[in-house]
Amino acid sequence: MAEFDFLIIGAGMAGASAGYALASQARVLILEQEDQPGYHTTGRSAALYAETYGNATVRALTTGGKGFYLNPPSGFAAHPLLLPRGVVFIGRADQRASLDAFLEEVSGLRSNIRRIAAAEVETQVPVFRPGYVADAVLDPDAMDIDVHGLHQGYLKGLKARGGQLVTDAQVRGLSRQAGLWQVESKAGRFAARVVVNAAGAWADEIGALAGAAPIGLVPKRRTAIRFRPPAGLDVARWPTIIDADEQFYFRPDAGQILASPADETPMPPCDVQPEDLDIAILVDRLEQVVTLPIPRIESRWAGLRSFVADKTPVVGYDDRIEDFFWLAGQGGYGIQTAPGIAALVEALARHEPVPPELEALGVTEAALSPIRLR
Ligand SMILES: Cc1cc2nc3c(=O)[nH]c(=O)nc-3n(C[C@H](O)[C@H](O)[C@H](O)COP(=O)(O)OP(=O)(O)OC[C@H]3O[C@@H](n4cnc5c(N)ncnc54)[C@H](O)[C@@H]3O)c2cc1C
Repeated sequence: MAEFDFLIIGAGMAGASAGYALASQARVLILEQEDQPGYHTTGRSAALYAETYGNATVRALTTGGKGFYLNPPSGFAAHPLLLPRGVVFIGRADQRASLDAFLEEVSGLRSNIRRIAAAEVETQVPVFRPGYVADAVLDPDAMDIDVHGLHQGYLKGLKARGGQLVTDAQVRGLSRQAGLWQVESKAGRFAARVVVNAAGAWADEIGALAGAAPIGLVPKRRTAIRFRPPAGLDVARWPTIIDADEQFYFRPDAGQILASPADETPMPPCDVQPEDLDIAILVDRLEQVVTLPIPRIESRWAGLRSFVADKTPVVGYDDRIEDFFWLAGQGGYGIQTAPGIAALVEALARHEPVPPELEALGVTEAALSPIRLR
């Protein structure tokens, strides 16, 4: 039976990035239940990178990975992983308090995060209904992520470092024998020193196979659509627009407009599909905000964003199950935080301290540890 140092369950962004990081010094195997790595949440994201999005720990992990995004190792990706976009958080007059609170939280991050006038937003994105936007906050450094390029870069890099990925390999059983994990999967049996649980929405189910107490993970459905802007309207340079209370967002995407009602419907883990009602809610919300016609929806999808109670990812060893490492609960931030979290996994999985560059940003082991959820 093949034996590994780290056996990672799940080849989404979490498992792929952790596998790449750990394979620099260890024998790594990733088992993925689907034929295609990235089939679930990773392949369904909105590809936003914003250091102003998410709670303080999420923001620190996002900033902590920025260096990797901007300067990945040579040969990692054929194209830049981040492209300039900018994000504007907008509000009606009755949402001013939300924008005040938001600005107070993020204005210390960078000096160019600032309030902008409604007229400036209307000039940049000339489709708002007159008088709708009363207030706005701009983060000009937000970017679009090449999610496929990042994910493939990690998987190619894993292979180049001697790591392995086996697809169509659903993990069905975990047990301990002579200090090693015995992993039963659809693709056969494997042994490993450490199991890394990067199973996305299924992470609590994998925890149960190992005998671990649940972390209280709740997968939440989020829906997105793409539609064409009217002929002659150039949307390419629009920033991403996010409602101050996250009731919707939209942004240009390869000549079309990607939009979401920012829904968060709790669901059991599954191959989630979009619901007509969520799309109707989105179209209704957009009609109140912009004058854009939506004659035809070109594509629609949904994915599961999985959260624990404090909306902070769960990264670290279980305190009761030996050599069982959690890498879950990335919520709506698992792409932008991936390089930062991968650096953290590399250290914590080897029982080393939080890397200094993450520590300097305020990342602590305790804030991410599964033990905080007991
Ligand atoms: C609509 C939408 C918009 C989003 N927008 C953004 C955004 O703008 N920016 C951002 O940073 N994030 C965004 N996200 C969140 C981001 O996509 C997720 O945080 C991230 O993809 C989570 O990655 P993951 O690897 O944990 O999960 P997944 O990609 O779901 O990977 C988990 C993998 O585990 C596998 N697995 C499960 N059980 C088993 C088993 N028993 N055996 C083997 N394999 C198993 C699954 O098949 C799956 O491939 C968005 C998500 C959605 C749905």
